[in-house]
Amino acid sequence: MHYTGTIWRPPYEADSLLLEVTAGCTHHKCKFCTLYSDLPFKFRMTSMEDIERDLLEVRTLRTNPYSRMLTRLQGEDPDPIRRVFLTGANPFVLKTGKLLKIASLIHQYLPSVESIGCFARVTDSVNKTDEELLQLRQAGYNGLTIGVETGDDVALAFMRKGYTSLDILAQCRRLEQAGIEYGFFYLTSISGKGRGEDGAKASAEIFNQLHPFLVGPNMLTIYPESDLYQEIQNGNWEEEGEIEKYRELRSLVENLDISTYFAAMGASNAFQLRGKLPEDKEKLLATLDRIISEVIEEELRRYRRNLRHL
Ligand code: SF4
Repeated sequence: MHYTGTIWRPPYEADSLLLEVTAGCTHHKCKFCTLYSDLPFKFRMTSMEDIERDLLEVRTLRTNPYSRMLTRLQGEDPDPIRRVFLTGANPFVLKTGKLLKIASLIHQYLPSVESIGCFARVTDSVNKTDEELLQLRQAGYNGLTIGVETGDDVALAFMRKGYTSLDILAQCRRLEQAGIEYGFFYLTSISGKGRGEDGAKASAEIFNQLHPFLVGPNMLTIYPESDLYQEIQNGNWEEEGEIEKYRELRSLVENLDISTYFAAMGASNAFQLRGKLPEDKEKLLATLDRIISEVIEEELRRYRRNLRHL
């Protein structure tokens, strides 16, 4: 299999086959982001030949009698592959024709696949017609993970995310119309010191008008190679305190009134929080209140300082 640089995937895609169709990010401008800084280029699409070679390799490993015997001897009998996760920050930006071709290769080599997911930017659907989105849904694209980060327009502009809260509404409604489900990654602390709770309220106001299957907060961790680090050095931006970040999360949970899954997963969250909304709202709020009143700021700071990478 071809893999280039660090491969990022959501925790809930752990059982999906990771297929490299792109590497890097077409945007590559968000001030806090260092996710693809290990790549010597900004964005690259994998050739169809390499994608096909990888799919052939997977099929061979799954179906060839010798490999099957070996996996059985090792005590494994893997389930059929039901889901493929395309790698890269925003493979959904690829032209519809290319995405359809990739889907057709996936179904040809791995007929057991039922759905295809990937990370997507809010702007990836802008150049696709409603009809194209429908075709993509029919080809199996579903369950996109969109790093919207926030609905706070001041933060979106400062961090150079490249879209506004109104764009989130417009593009996600188009996905919904096409039947493409999506989950949101939220970035706790993106609004900066003293603005976190307001940022969370603005985000909840936007999210409440949509139907994401997930709101998954990550916590901002600032690395020296990011542009944001430079902004802090220049006195243009201040990070929230660690307890303040949990107050922001509390405000987000409190103000969300849609039915969704709330899950703070991954290493950036010192405390992993999961629950269904609205059913588990009170439980989540009680846990956040305990963290806010009992956990020491310096302990959380130490945790973040020791995060080598997300
Ligand atoms: S869109 Fe995502 S991957 Fe690309 S620069 Fe922004 S945060 Fe990083």
